[in-house]
Amino acid sequence: MEEKKKIIRKKAKVLKDQCVACGTCEAECPIEAIKVVAGVFAEVDEGRCVGCSKCEKVCPASIIEIIEKEVVK
Ligand code: SF4
Ligand code: SF4
Repeated sequence: MEEKKKIIRKKAKVLKDQCVACGTCEAECPIEAIKVVAGVFAEVDEGRCVGCSKCEKVCPASIIEIIEKEVVK
């Protein structure tokens, strides 16, 4: 059986309860990995996000952080 590898990847994380749904992060993400859901809060597609931190820098509420996540490949 093939062995699975654990890899650490950077991902954006949104504090959803503090999100004002302004859409700035969605507009700035170069690969459409963050979207405002139903006009309520932004959600990160962790499968797409490459942790570039663009969204973190532009969020006017400063509620996006870049975290390290373990991904199994
Ligand atoms: S960290 Fe980069 S790739 Fe990930 S959601 Fe933010 S802008 Fe998009
Ligand atoms: S930029 Fe910040 S406040 Fe605006 S939608 Fe994205 S996470 Fe929410």
